[in-house]
Amino acid sequence: MALIVHKYGGTSMGSTERIRNVAKRVAKWHRAGYQMVVVPSAMSGETNRLLGLAKELAPAKPGVAYGRELDQLGATGEQASSALLAIALQAEGLDAVSFSGWQVPIKTDSSHTKARIESIEDVRVKAELDAGKVVIITGFQGIDPLGNVTTLGRGGSDTSAVAVAAALKADECLIYTDVDGVYTTDPRVVPEARRMERVSFEEMLEMASMGSKVLQIRSVEFAGKYRVPMRVLSSFTPWDIDLNEEARSGTLITFEDNEDMEQAVVSGIAFNRDEAKVSVLGVPDTPGIAYQIVGAVADANIEVDVIIQNVSKGGLTDFSFTVNRNDLAKTLELLKDQVAPQLGAAEVIGDARICKVSIVGIGMRSHVGVASRMFRCLSAENINIQMISTSEIKTSVVIDEKYMELAVRALHREFDLDQPQDSLAQA
Ligand code: ADP
Ligand code: ASP
Ligand code: MG
Repeated sequence: MALIVHKYGGTSMGSTERIRNVAKRVAKWHRAGYQMVVVPSAMSGETNRLLGLAKELAPAKPGVAYGRELDQLGATGEQASSALLAIALQAEGLDAVSFSGWQVPIKTDSSHTKARIESIEDVRVKAELDAGKVVIITGFQGIDPLGNVTTLGRGGSDTSAVAVAAALKADECLIYTDVDGVYTTDPRVVPEARRMERVSFEEMLEMASMGSKVLQIRSVEFAGKYRVPMRVLSSFTPWDIDLNEEARSGTLITFEDNEDMEQAVVSGIAFNRDEAKVSVLGVPDTPGIAYQIVGAVADANIEVDVIIQNVSKGGLTDFSFTVNRNDLAKTLELLKDQVAPQLGAAEVIGDARICKVSIVGIGMRSHVGVASRMFRCLSAENINIQMISTSEIKTSVVIDEKYMELAVRALHREFDLDQPQDSLAQA
C-alpha cells in the first residue's frame, strides 16, 4: 500500500475551520487507499506569539542562553495543532493518533533553536499505520541525546515532513501551503511571478538557501539526499477536488538530469532580509586574518555567509561578511571584546539594513555574461551593490534593504520571468 506524507503549513492550519478542511482532505486520501502520515505546523501566528512572550520576559541578550526553554515553549505550538488535527480526523470517523517529535522519536543534535535531525525511529509509526491509523507527527521538533526537546529553526516543519518521508520510505511528500506552488519569485512581492510546473532539485536548493521561504533549505537537502519525491501545492483548493487532479497540481521538485534540455538562463529570483553585515575595519593584511575573524565567529556556532575582503591600503584592510540578523548582536560583541583587540582592528561595525537578492538558474552554467546583465540592470535602477557572491548556478548581491522590492521586480523583468515560458515547465 502506498504511503504518502502530507505537510500543512501554519496558514493551512490557521483556524478550526481550516483544520477541519485538512482533516477532510486527509480522509479523502486515506479512503482512497493510501497510508497517511501528516506533519502539521503550529496554527499561524502561534510560534511568533510564543517566542514574543519569551522576548517580553527576557529581551535577547548576548550571554543569556535560554535556547532550551525557547524550544520547550516553541514546540508546544505544533503539539496543539497536531492533537487538534487528530481530534478533527476522529470526528471524520477515522482512527488517528498524534505524536510529538520525542515520542516518535525524531532524534536531533543539541543545537537549540536550530537543531539538525540525526535519525528517526520508524517502529512506533509503522505499527500504527499497519493498524490502519492516520499518524500525525508534530513538525519543527525532535529530541536531543540528553532528552531535551529541540526545534529545527523557523520553517522547520518542511524539514520534519521530508525527513519523516525519507525515514518511512514514503512514496511522495506533499507540502501543502498558502500558494499553489513554487513561483519564479515570491508572488507577494512580484504579482507577475509565474508558477513553475517543475523545478530542478538544484535550483530549488539554491532558491531555498538564498531565502525563498516557500521551503526550508534543509527540507530540500533531505529530499536530495534520500531522493524523496516532493511536490509543493495549495491547501486552499476545495478539499473534495478529484484526488488525481490534486496529485498532479502545484510544483514538482525533479531530480532528473536536465543537462541536455534547453534551459531558461535564470529560473528564479530569491531574496533574504534576514541577514546583517558586519565589518571589521583596519585589520593588518597578513596571513591568517580571515581565519582569525571567521574562525572565531564559526566557533561560536554562528553561520557566516557572504564574505568580502578589500584591497589593502598601507598594510591595512577591511573585512566584511554577513550573518543572520538574530546573530548580529552576539557577533558584534564577540568581535569587539575578543577578536578586534587581538588583531588591533580600528573598528567593528554592524548594519542590519541590508538584504541579499539572488538570481538562480541551471542555465547560468552554459551562458556567459549573466552576472554582468544583473549588475547592469541594478545600475540602471541606481542601486549600489555592496557585496557579491557567486556559485555555478547563482549570483547574489547584497544591497540596501530599501531597494529590495525594486531590485527583485527589475531583475524579474530583465530575465523575462514575467513572460510565459516553456523552458521552466520543461526543466
Ligand atoms: P507555510 O506556513 O505553509 O510553511 P510559508 O509562509 O512558510 O508557508 O511559505 C509560503 C510562502 O512563501 C508564500 O506565501 C510566499 O509568500 C513565500 N514565497 C517566497 N518565495 C516564493 C516562491 N518562489 N514561490 C512561492 N512562494 C514563495
Ligand atoms: N511553526 C514553526 C515556524 O513558525 C515551524 C513551521 O511553521 O514550519 O517557524
Ligand atoms: Mg513554511
